[in-house]
Amino acid sequence: MADTIEHRSAQELAAGYKMSHRIAEIIAMCIYAALAATLYYRVLPLVPLRPITFAIGALMGYFAADFVSGLVHWFCDTWGSPEWPVVGPVFIRTFREHHVDPKSITRHDFIETNGASCMGVLPAVLPGVFFHPDPTSTTQVLVAGALATFCLLIPFTTQTHKWAHMPIEKVSLLGRVLIKSGILLNAVEHDRHHHAPYLVAYCITSGRCNKLLDRTGFWRIAEKLITRLTKAIPREDDIGRRAAESIATQ
Ligand SMILES: [Zn+2]
Ligand SMILES: [Zn+2]
Repeated sequence: MADTIEHRSAQELAAGYKMSHRIAEIIAMCIYAALAATLYYRVLPLVPLRPITFAIGALMGYFAADFVSGLVHWFCDTWGSPEWPVVGPVFIRTFREHHVDPKSITRHDFIETNGASCMGVLPAVLPGVFFHPDPTSTTQVLVAGALATFCLLIPFTTQTHKWAHMPIEKVSLLGRVLIKSGILLNAVEHDRHHHAPYLVAYCITSGRCNKLLDRTGFWRIAEKLITRLTKAIPREDDIGRRAAESIATQ
């Protein structure tokens, strides 16, 4: 019975990946590639001119990307449902499917893995078209450095998440180097998230923000605030949690 519940939910959620979503993802990846090329053409010449300032900005972007990955993950786990327009099928459905069938992510191809994240980063990478950073402005060089890492990491957040679910020997050489050097999320850190009701370790780019956010109760405080403001109940429609609870009571 438990297997039936888990299997049916995973199938239902996986079936939500429609051809129209895939086409939208391919278009988003092409737009991302064009905008990112413009952004890096503008910001990378700053590296030899202001290396330390650019590196500090890049570090800020590195932590910001991890925090945003956690914010989106927490939102999709906690609020709404896969039936919500646009956000539901593209983002919420994939996180709910992931709780019911954590290994499904390892079976997704390059487009299904990275398409939605490329779509999500477009509002951040779009300013690159209009951004002409002044090398003499510390603020602009910091922003340029932050944008450089943020717009590189966010589109591949699901890729890093996928690697954290794969045996390390099956991860590409580049991925293995980045994981073992501590730059990207590792499986041990991410495994803390995969225990129902999935309330910790939401950050999935590097996982560097997880301990601070978990220890300060950041997510629970955010949930109480949102409930107070909107009366919405956290995880009211969490299919993965309901499946896990059903299994536990069998
Ligand atoms: Zn989750
Ligand atoms: Zn996971």
